Amino acid sequence: MAKATKYIFVTGGVLSGLGKGITAASIANLLKARGLSVNLQKCDPYLNVDAGMLNPREHGECFVTKDGAETDLDLGHYERFLDEELTQSSSVMQGRVLLRVIEDERHGKYQGQTVQIVPHVMSAVQDFIKEASQGFDVHIVEIGGTVGDLESQSFVEAIREFGLRVGRDNCLYVHVVYLPYLGASHETKTKPAQNAVRELRGMGITPDVLVARSEQPAGRHAIGKLSMFSGVEPEAIALLPNAPSIYQVPLTLEDTGIADVICHKLGLKTKKADLNPWRDMVKRSMKTYDHTVRVGIIAKYMDNEDTYLCVFEALRAAGWWNNTNVDITWIDAEKLGDKTEAEVAAALQGVNGIVITGGFGTRGVEGKIKAAQYAMAHKLPCLGLCYGLQMSVIAAARAAGKMGANTTEVDADTKYPVITTMADQKGRENTGGTMRLGDYPCHLTAGSKAAEVYGTTKIVERHRHRYECNNDFRDQYESWGIRASGLSPDGRLVEVIEAIDHPFYVASQFHPEFKSRPNRPHPMFKGFVASMLQK
Ligand code: GLN
Repeated sequence: MAKATKYIFVTGGVLSGLGKGITAASIANLLKARGLSVNLQKCDPYLNVDAGMLNPREHGECFVTKDGAETDLDLGHYERFLDEELTQSSSVMQGRVLLRVIEDERHGKYQGQTVQIVPHVMSAVQDFIKEASQGFDVHIVEIGGTVGDLESQSFVEAIREFGLRVGRDNCLYVHVVYLPYLGASHETKTKPAQNAVRELRGMGITPDVLVARSEQPAGRHAIGKLSMFSGVEPEAIALLPNAPSIYQVPLTLEDTGIADVICHKLGLKTKKADLNPWRDMVKRSMKTYDHTVRVGIIAKYMDNEDTYLCVFEALRAAGWWNNTNVDITWIDAEKLGDKTEAEVAAALQGVNGIVITGGFGTRGVEGKIKAAQYAMAHKLPCLGLCYGLQMSVIAAARAAGKMGANTTEVDADTKYPVITTMADQKGRENTGGTMRLGDYPCHLTAGSKAAEVYGTTKIVERHRHRYECNNDFRDQYESWGIRASGLSPDGRLVEVIEAIDHPFYVASQFHPEFKSRPNRPHPMFKGFVASMLQK
């Protein structure tokens, strides 16, 4: 008989933004390093069905899984820390749960019963958890929000009941709390954390493990006090002060011994953790290198790294791999749009290369096109991501005299619709669930820059877009100075373009950043950073 899956539930108390996601991902990392198969799942209290329609300015980047789920950015952390590709089942928003219950009701599945939060919604949440955990040694579930919020109550209740359903021995509850420091009295205070534990208890869950976050390192006496008031044994309390790099967190947690405590409590027999490769990566990530490359991010959402989180992580990882510091400068695409050629040159002065980011809608589009034109003409290394590819094609068309060339997303009546929707997408432009999402295979032209950086001609990458290169213009590309160097296997869709006779101008319809890992940076980003070093 297959061994029963063990469940770890990670909740948060006191306040939000404590790094609950990083904590869950770090525990996953430490268990995987012990040879266990581990899955991660995020339960979000939002009533959205997925993250596809959420504003990135408020919620940060929308992460896309290989099977095309549009998720919260925490899934990106999960993939980077676990180094596994996750699926839709790892992201459960409350809207998805309610949708399932309501659809079941409509389909007559409840056979006349009164459909209620308890037991029907509770059992639907548990089904989502159970389904995602199949086949794994350990399944880690992070509950979004803060315990005590009305919003997340049903998830908290569902995981309490889950303990009864699968047996308390098979479940472990980790509560992430916060220890504030009072400068005036030079003290770390545990009261808010005590209250947070009481709150969780009040909902019927006794935590097995506490992770106590603090800005400054808290003294060991905090453990004693927390233990006394919360009833959690001292060895099951991990202090987690702010780390210089998020990738340090698994190592800090390992030093607290908490992963062994977790394995012991769950009755998991494991081999010793092999953390050496991770340790090496963390060392490289914290090093200051002799070389620095300056990358301009041509973006519409300014100054909030969360909106382009995977892009930043991919650039940094590519820097470590190339033994170079990556210095990132924000360039406001919207402002660039009004600038003359000389002013664009001035704005891009001092950067060694640019990244043209993905995006939707009209804002910032002209600036992205101008930046693309500049990079093509002046042989400035450029990496285009999704909308970045579309802007590059427009830039090339316009530079070749097709004035007013555009995407129909921005100008439905353009004379030169070089980017447009495929026939089956027409009329569905502003709705959810109508995009090309997730993994698609792509064939690269042998000898192209893209094939060179990948070291292969057959790749699979993740997509999230509605518009495509218009095939009516494809035979003109060479005369515009670009080449379609990556196509869908049937040749119908352009997936990669590059500028001809350019040190590095590669743009993809897919988002390579989603597949980059701190320890295995993505070839496109590695190649881009390497090209800046050669200049
Ligand atoms: N707005 C473009 C499209 O829908 C690009 C999307 C993106 O950059 N992710 O095709």
